[in-house]
Amino acid sequence: MIELINKLEKEQSLTLAEYEFLIENRNEEAAKILSEKAVEKRKEVYGNDVYIRGLIEISNICKNDCCYCGIRRGNKNCERYRLTKEQILLCCDEGYPLGYRTFVLQGGEDSHFSDDFLCDIITSIKLKYPDCAVTLSLGERSFESYKKLREAGADRYLLRHETADKEHYEKLHPADMSFDNRMECLKNLKKLRFQTGCGFMVGSPYQTSATLAKDLKFIEEFRPEMCGIGPFIPHKDTEFSNFPAGTVELTCYLLSIVRLISPDILLPATTALGSIDSFGREKGILSGANVVMPNLSPEDAKQKYQLYNNKLSSGAEAAANKRMLEERMESIGYKIVTNIGNHKKGN
Ligand code: SAH
Repeated sequence: MIELINKLEKEQSLTLAEYEFLIENRNEEAAKILSEKAVEKRKEVYGNDVYIRGLIEISNICKNDCCYCGIRRGNKNCERYRLTKEQILLCCDEGYPLGYRTFVLQGGEDSHFSDDFLCDIITSIKLKYPDCAVTLSLGERSFESYKKLREAGADRYLLRHETADKEHYEKLHPADMSFDNRMECLKNLKKLRFQTGCGFMVGSPYQTSATLAKDLKFIEEFRPEMCGIGPFIPHKDTEFSNFPAGTVELTCYLLSIVRLISPDILLPATTALGSIDSFGREKGILSGANVVMPNLSPEDAKQKYQLYNNKLSSGAEAAANKRMLEERMESIGYKIVTNIGNHKKGN
């Protein structure tokens, strides 16, 4: 194990079999060594800075039926909403004075979001707040659509690959969704020079050490600027309602590995991690993460954007409570910074 960790640190790469071994045989000692090395790497690139992103959940209307997701098309118990352009801009107006310099527009695949509609919103945010980054997380779209969004000024795009194993992907999604298309979208985003984020859930149903090894290999080869890794948490109105949630322990272990694969990656301590453990965010940062994404959505939207059971949106998870988040980060020796928080290339 120690040898493998040293190799990973030195070469930023392992074979599939080695990644699988590292996951399969993990223990407390290995986790401790990995997190120490990950923190060291992150400090070399980003110091003690933690970047904040204001998350705006713009719609929970979705044409997809992902088996794990609470806002899936088939969930009749989900009360649907969509924010107007004015409401989205109001979220930015609230976030800017608090120090947010990145706005993440996330939502279901809502057909109301035409290219023109989204480009208008992006242009308006950029016009009003030229010193801010706009990140989109709106699922799969065509190359042409991504191109227009990019030209309108969007800087970053988050599209978790969910799993790098095609068979596993097909167990998590209905037949009308395609692994190949998701991967194609990620390539297109990179081609268009979005700062691109992929990612996956930890402990999703049917996940194995072998599928996780493929996720790590994919991250190693794709070289995303960002990567979202959080535990799977069941949602009561999905077919996965009885599956167990992923663990903090494995999530943090994987965060450390990803930091060693890519020392300069932007790695959030996710809301899901904060939702299963009251110190989840802190544990994520102490394992090598360097981003947190508090929620800037209007209260009503927060209640309705339920991807999983008991999703946290209050306390330090609420963007308005930035001071609380600052204190929590300071208590573990880190500092929330007010800047655009771009990926530091070439480190
Ligand atoms: N429609 C957009 C945004 C999806 S929501 C897209 O397709 O990218 C953002 C992420 O939440 C998803 O990519 C998924 O990894 C995560 N998510 C969804 N349901 C979840 C659950 N039950 N537990 C944990 N994470 C979940």
